[in-house]
Amino acid sequence: EQAGRYRDTWAKVDLGAIRSNVLTIRKNLPSHTKLMAVVKANGYGHGSVEAARMAIQAGAQYLAVAFLSEALQLRKNGITAPILILSPIKPQEVHAACILNVMLTVTSASWFDELSRVSKGIPPKKLKIHIKLDTGLGRIGIRNHQEWMDLVPWLQATDVIVDGVYTHFATAGREETDFLQKQWGRFQEMMAWVKNSGLKVNHYHCANSAAALRFPELAMDMVRIGAAMFGFYPKNLVPEVDLKPALSVYSSLMEVKKLSKGEYIGYDNSYQAQDEEWIGTVPIGYADGWSQSLRGSEVLVDGCRMPVVGKICMDQLMIRLPCYYPVGTDVTLIGKQGSQMITCAELASYMGSVAQEISTSLTSRISRSYT
Ligand code: PLP
Repeated sequence: EQAGRYRDTWAKVDLGAIRSNVLTIRKNLPSHTKLMAVVKANGYGHGSVEAARMAIQAGAQYLAVAFLSEALQLRKNGITAPILILSPIKPQEVHAACILNVMLTVTSASWFDELSRVSKGIPPKKLKIHIKLDTGLGRIGIRNHQEWMDLVPWLQATDVIVDGVYTHFATAGREETDFLQKQWGRFQEMMAWVKNSGLKVNHYHCANSAAALRFPELAMDMVRIGAAMFGFYPKNLVPEVDLKPALSVYSSLMEVKKLSKGEYIGYDNSYQAQDEEWIGTVPIGYADGWSQSLRGSEVLVDGCRMPVVGKICMDQLMIRLPCYYPVGTDVTLIGKQGSQMITCAELASYMGSVAQEISTSLTSRISRSYT
């Protein structure tokens, strides 16, 4: 808030949209399925504490973050809901994690080996874990039967609570479902290993936003919802679901100039006026997370789309205007203006990326205001 006071570029986070999205997602799920709200990466850029609070209020029972530091931030802000850390943490940090009462992701027997070494054979009391199975994403997790068998003695010998066993899909947002089916099949196979070992497991889970929205039959005991909560989802694949984008980014024109034909704009003379042209400068740049790869994108002024011209600078970008507009004129970079709307998904398409890369890239120079 303090930082934002001296800047004309700011983000608005619509907590009502987050609430409405969680309720909509919830409505489409089997009633016994728990909802884990994924608020890593500063709540996908929307503010992790605010997003977590709203998600819990709207009915989420669990939270998830990527790192212990992110869990610490939630706890420091008084959030008491169960939290799962999605990436394995260092065994040296388990003590701190237990103090924070957070659940850990375990992906190997060697992790317990190392934990036993650093804790001098005295395992932490009431350690709660979720075991991650790699069914095809190729990122983290147990991949084969031997790795599973190596882990079992650790789970049987210690008083760890296996709160969950889970996997993550690689292609849930893609139209064709062959690979998703393959992962689902592999998850069934691996769950049988778990069940055959006689372990008590509280929750099995696999679905992220796209999987949960498209295939409620994969919801199992719990779904892990990040993107959809913020209004990012494959609309074309679930046209009946209506989720609202929660993030807008606004600025205003800081300079307006008239160029003669042939004059240049931007570093490396990256744009040349084809005629007499009006150019506006907007105070947002790549140090705010507005990447140079967004060349070719547009912003909204006076309800119309205006192209970004020239290379995006560290603190500013330039746009071409159809006529003179006064300094201070509103510029919408993400969100609605008149009948036009620019979404994170549209911006991501210029970079060959996904909506959440746009929202998570917005740096702390852009203050978030909550409505
Ligand atoms: N589960 C895991 C393990 C993740 O890494 C993520 C995010 O990348 C999610 C769930 C949430 O996925 P989504 O944002 O698609 O809902």
